[in-house]
Amino acid sequence: MNVCRTVDEIRAEIASLKSDGKSVALVPTMGALHDGHLRLIREAHEHADEVVVSIFVNPAQFGPNEDFDSYPRELEQDLEKCRKENVSVVFAPNRDDVYDEESFLKIEIGTLNKHMCGGSRPGFFEGILLIVNKLFNITTPDLALFGQKDIQQFQIISRMVMEFNHAVQLKMVPIVRASDGLALSSRNAYLSAEERLTAPGLYRCLTYIEKQIRDGVDEPGLLISHQTSELEAKGFRIDYLGMFSLKTLQPAETLVAGENYILAGAAWLGETRLIDNILIEL
Ligand code: AMP
Repeated sequence: MNVCRTVDEIRAEIASLKSDGKSVALVPTMGALHDGHLRLIREAHEHADEVVVSIFVNPAQFGPNEDFDSYPRELEQDLEKCRKENVSVVFAPNRDDVYDEESFLKIEIGTLNKHMCGGSRPGFFEGILLIVNKLFNITTPDLALFGQKDIQQFQIISRMVMEFNHAVQLKMVPIVRASDGLALSSRNAYLSAEERLTAPGLYRCLTYIEKQIRDGVDEPGLLISHQTSELEAKGFRIDYLGMFSLKTLQPAETLVAGENYILAGAAWLGETRLIDNILIEL
């Protein structure tokens, strides 16, 4: 497995893979790899000859008061995991290899960015589109894989690929969970032992709401506000909890048969922000 630290190195590496006629899948990550990331890598092997993993804690997607400095960085362990998963190339650049000191351009997102994580993390998805745009241009993958855990990210990247004519196929991979239901996340490492026991409550709440909806509730507003209170009583601070249209990412008050929705929540437990979602196709 080759580890590339610069744009020139990874471009040469990809060119050599492609000159052998191989198809390339890209799995973008911020490292501290867990079984969720590994599932993306395994899925990538199913659809492409060679798998490239990028590991880069992207400063552009962190707000000034967010956890950029404390975000877990475990490159050696990550490389070992990638080796075991038969990854062909890891791209692990330094900040200056990817970003110029000055930048003049920014991608604007519009309404897809108004609610869910976009509503509470200004600049977050602009920062993600910036790095994903760069990674697509640098690695020119045939396929790129992302997790459903960050479903708003997937939807916004899908629009970018469509509207900017990137020649890449996208694949969304289902959420990998711990046995108690908690969605795996590099940030789960921040949870205290007690918070870790409380954390699956977010998913349990989503599954409870999902069941009511599948049983026929089509105006889930009241149900969601009750569940918000239940979570607060358990010690969560709710950022958002609600139903959103899968296509427009706008809040959905009345659910309509035949439409696709995301039941999504984000909540703080102490210093840790957890997110989770369930796709509901009615
Ligand atoms: P991150 O390193 O957190 O930026 O995540 C890199 C990729 O892994 C993103 O596409 C995430 O959606 C995906 N991912 C993170 N956690 C999970 C999980 N529990 N299950 C599936 N995919 C995940």
